[in-house]
Amino acid sequence: MTCELMERPRAGVINPIFTCQPAGAQFVSIGIKDCIGIVHGGQGCVMFVRLIFSQHFKESFELASSSVHEDGAVFGACGRVEQAVDVLLMRYPHVKVVPIISTCSTEVIGDDIDGVVTKLNNGLLKEKYPGREVHLIPIHTPSFVGSMITGYDVAMRDIVAYFAKKTAPSGKLNVFTGWVNPGDVTAIKHLLAAMGIEATVLFEIEAFDAPMMPSGNHVAHGETTIADIEGTANAVGTMALSRYEGGKAAAYLEKEFGLPTIIGPTPIGIRNTDTFLAHLRTLTGKPIPETLVRERGVAIDALTDLTHMFFADKRVAIYGNPDLVIGLAEFCIDLEMQPALLLLGDDNTNYQKDPRIKALKENVDWDMEIVTNADFWELEDRVKNKGLKLDLILGHSKGRFISIDYNIPMVRVGFPTYDRAGMFRHPVVGYAGAIWLAEQMANALFADMEYKHVREWSLNMW
Ligand code: SF4
Repeated sequence: MTCELMERPRAGVINPIFTCQPAGAQFVSIGIKDCIGIVHGGQGCVMFVRLIFSQHFKESFELASSSVHEDGAVFGACGRVEQAVDVLLMRYPHVKVVPIISTCSTEVIGDDIDGVVTKLNNGLLKEKYPGREVHLIPIHTPSFVGSMITGYDVAMRDIVAYFAKKTAPSGKLNVFTGWVNPGDVTAIKHLLAAMGIEATVLFEIEAFDAPMMPSGNHVAHGETTIADIEGTANAVGTMALSRYEGGKAAAYLEKEFGLPTIIGPTPIGIRNTDTFLAHLRTLTGKPIPETLVRERGVAIDALTDLTHMFFADKRVAIYGNPDLVIGLAEFCIDLEMQPALLLLGDDNTNYQKDPRIKALKENVDWDMEIVTNADFWELEDRVKNKGLKLDLILGHSKGRFISIDYNIPMVRVGFPTYDRAGMFRHPVVGYAGAIWLAEQMANALFADMEYKHVREWSLNMW
């Protein structure tokens, strides 16, 4: 009975779990107000990313491409960035922030996007747009290293490093949500408000649950302002909810401006939400109010109704963003389930040092595997050929065919989720998120019993 951490043993990837680094940088850019990112690469580097964002959020939003073609790939495509910035600024007079996001092709051909930015700052912006506030920020996200997770982390750090400026103390707390849903942002703001904490929630996409207003504007925009990002240097501290999505920016602010900083855990489940609130208390000195103690009590009551009776010993596979996967695994263990397989879709070497993974390795007393650099074949092969028995799968929509093909119930959680309605609206963080998630899992097991005509065994009661 062991918990083993291993890397995918094959060279080829069969059905990847993650997409590439520029996607993470694009996710950061849509969280900023008056910002449109230009992806310097082929059009597909934006089009397919836009597609999964749109499928997930069911919203329209703006991202641009430098649209590199064959000639640019051979002779260099810096000119495409110059044209793209000019067209973007002409077409969108409100835009102030333009991250220039590199891709695999433009990194391989060696386009100097930092040099282009210097040239544009000294030329085009002064000559054609004098007096206009425009910030061109190079973001290096070659897709042959890392994943969408590292792309998010790198972009956030580079944008914070560009803007953060020490002036007067703001008395506010920086909160980095990581790659979460609009419903999660609302839930995090609720916890902060309940504790009476003034916070700047950064790169947040709460507005991506956008209303259809009489004005007819169908385009969603993030709400983090330039002033918000500049002010990160003047905060009382930083609380980053994710180690791998915002941890670099938090570490930057700690090193550069000496801000007290706590990174993780993502408040998934009772244990991690308790820790999150305790961390907020440490950083701000604010007590945890009775209202949250009551919310916690309601959650524990709801989970007690489900845990031993329905969840005990159920074997679960979980895949997706690393902080989400680890948080879900810890939550499942608290619900008496047995995570059997965790799949992390990139080769980040920091997973080996992650204290949460170390704790799993030390404490788990059933057979469990954690596979890094994983693809969906790591799951399918175990189910199809190696006798892995599962009661439940937790993950995003890209892995649904394994659930369908092998009759394993599944709860959609994470990004992207497009084959269930409204999932982006529901939080998985906080006490309310713990209730919602546990009830989704229980209902998936109940529905599976009906579907398979099982009457006797699977829920430990009949
Ligand atoms: S792998 Fe390269 S070509 Fe494909 S979307 Fe990512 S950056 Fe673009």
